[in-house]
Amino acid sequence: MIKFKCVRCNAVVKAPETTVGKHVQCPTCQLKLTVPMRRTRSRSLPPLKPVAVGALLVVAFVALAWAVWPTRREKPAEGTRPSTPEAARDLERGQRLQAEERRKNEVAEILKRQDEQRKLIEEARKKEIEDRMRADEERRKQEERDRERFELEEKLRRQKEEIERRKNPNVYVE
Ligand SMILES: [Zn+2]
Repeated sequence: MIKFKCVRCNAVVKAPETTVGKHVQCPTCQLKLTVPMRRTRSRSLPPLKPVAVGALLVVAFVALAWAVWPTRREKPAEGTRPSTPEAARDLERGQRLQAEERRKNEVAEILKRQDEQRKLIEEARKKEIEDRMRADEERRKQEERDRERFELEEKLRRQKEEIERRKNPNVYVE
């Protein structure tokens, strides 16, 4: 079925596919309408693509895992073993600080990547909305042209009726 709107009363008219380009009557106002090729499309935006959502979730999970992961303690390399307990503590503390610093940088890097990804998704979404608006505008113009054509056709039909009526005032011509 093809669904379209009556150009006069805005009622939704349904017609079988086989009637494209042919005339049907509006069930509400009885105006003669040409069945268009286009179907009436839904105006709602599609949801975010599942792949993009999945990517965001994975990045968020990795960032969280890094943030809560215990700092790795690396054993000092062979030959650099400290000679005293104080030196051993200092060495261990230094290594722990280094590891924490490294982890902080990694988390920051992951969050940055996540932010970049989110921006890309937002841009794609914005572009999608703009495309949609352009298509809507194009459809609106087409509907305006259709309406003008219908009005002209009706005017011509009325003029023809009027001429026939004047020729023969006793007969009403449909
Ligand atoms: Zn109508």
